[in-house]
Amino acid sequence: QVAAETRSFEAEVAQVLHLVTHSLYSHKEIFLRELISNASDACDKLRFEAIAAPELLSGDGELRIEVSWDADARTVTVRDNGIGMGRDEVVANIGTIASSGTRRFLEAMSGEQKADARLIGQFGVGFYSGFVVADRVTVLSRRAGAAAEEGVKWESDGQGQYTLEPVELPARGTTVILHLKPDEDEFLAGWKLRSLVHRYSDHVAFPIRMPKDAADEGGEADAEQWETVNSASALWTKPRTEISDEDYQGFYKALGHDFNDALAWTHNRVEGSQSFTTLLYLPAQPPFDLMMGGRDERKGLKLYIKRVFVMDAAEELLPSYLRFVRGVVDADDLPLNVSRELLQQNRQLDRIRGACVKRVLDLVEKLARDEPEKFAAFHKAFGNTLKEGIVEDAGNRERVAKLLRFASTKGEGGAQTVSLDDYIGRMAVGQDTIWYVTADSHAAAAGSPQLEAFRSRDIEVLLMSDRIDEWMLGSLREYAGKKLQHVAKGELPLDAADREKQDEAAKAAEPLLQKLKGLLGDRVADVRVSARLTDSPSCLALADHDMAPHFVRLLREAGQ
Ligand code: ADP
Ligand code: MG
Repeated sequence: QVAAETRSFEAEVAQVLHLVTHSLYSHKEIFLRELISNASDACDKLRFEAIAAPELLSGDGELRIEVSWDADARTVTVRDNGIGMGRDEVVANIGTIASSGTRRFLEAMSGEQKADARLIGQFGVGFYSGFVVADRVTVLSRRAGAAAEEGVKWESDGQGQYTLEPVELPARGTTVILHLKPDEDEFLAGWKLRSLVHRYSDHVAFPIRMPKDAADEGGEADAEQWETVNSASALWTKPRTEISDEDYQGFYKALGHDFNDALAWTHNRVEGSQSFTTLLYLPAQPPFDLMMGGRDERKGLKLYIKRVFVMDAAEELLPSYLRFVRGVVDADDLPLNVSRELLQQNRQLDRIRGACVKRVLDLVEKLARDEPEKFAAFHKAFGNTLKEGIVEDAGNRERVAKLLRFASTKGEGGAQTVSLDDYIGRMAVGQDTIWYVTADSHAAAAGSPQLEAFRSRDIEVLLMSDRIDEWMLGSLREYAGKKLQHVAKGELPLDAADREKQDEAAKAAEPLLQKLKGLLGDRVADVRVSARLTDSPSCLALADHDMAPHFVRLLREAGQ
């Protein structure tokens, strides 16, 4: 028998604790959502393991979560009869930082950036949110399948150390007891806790049970009588007509750990030789991991098989350029014992993945068509991520390109509002090229001397200044049968009168050209009279196979 012992948190845990307790203060009530979410995960895990080992349920197959409080002891307790943890698991899961996302989060937060409460839930620091309202947290846990004496008690005041001791526990699962700080009495009321469950956890798929609260009639909580306080349904399995917008939003918030409403969603059931349901959301703002240029591999899309949660499978179910999508996929016909490796080779999954991509693109197209404001918000948040699809998803290149918006010499300042179709619609008769210029900034693009000839001929030019644009343009050579071309390349569109004028000018300037060529030597390939300029005396032009100067600079920066 291992005796009680005191251990120290990993240095990083102490850091996370500090950050969480200080930055979550204005949203402190989300501790309940986080603990319930962990309890729900634990029930999911047990249900999944019990498919292969039904004895793990050992006569208590009704998975549930219980939330209770004790006004005298000043505690709030969240209990589940899910998978539970053995001693080593407790140490590994709540004494250390296992998730790589959390490390990234820490790195980011130790800079000037202020921790944003909205982001914390996404980072697996959920458990520590208990310390926002509690000055001591006790965890009692017994792994499913383990004996009563193999229970473990973990306790900490969140100041750097925790204690561990073996205890006898009558039932499997985990109990988290928060000993509230002196000024957190508001959480010692049934109505308060109940309203938080409704707000944040209504769509948890397991029943959340609370003691019947007789406080309204002046009585005490009745610990003998429990009632279910959430709707406890797998929302995506219901028909669309029975789900309100509020339900969809509530489900999204619980799923995405987001405080904000989703921007839009698409919910579909495919019946046939292979049946599956998808419920996919577009967030209103970029999730934190996206802003950091990373991708929290665990988060995004949850894969269920016949309502049983199997794994977070964003990478298997969506291409990288759609990594901002959140949601659920529930497949009827995948084998429940599917592993991540098998999943990657699964042919059925290819179909589901294809359907997910199609649904998301359909949804964004619908926004572009019918809801310009929402589409603008979407484009602002995810337009640059979507551009990766031009390179990554050749099969949908044209569809993705149609959804992109750019700044333009005929647009409003730097606003990215002009679509390729808008551009084509404004083309003059006979124009077969979509012209663009790339630069480090919008100002540089808009001020480029290359544009003079285009302005004077009233030819529109797209102004590209996002870092990803050059890379994207490398794969976007054509759209709707029109060539895309940098203004510094190729032949300018000249009419006959123009051409005559240019020939004359070239003849007149011949002696000057010779002189310049002599002076510049082999630093240039040629010196020519150009129709590109109206005000500036000269500019650099590129041969068709040259890289744009801005791209050359980017490569140089990257050490190429
Ligand atoms: P996350 O839920 O994102 O993994 P948390 O900080 O909320 O991060 O929880 C950390 C880990 O502690 C979980 O991944 C899980 O392994 C473990 N854990 C927390 N609560 C429970 C619980 N009620 N039952 C079983 N394991 C739990
Ligand atoms: Mg959690």
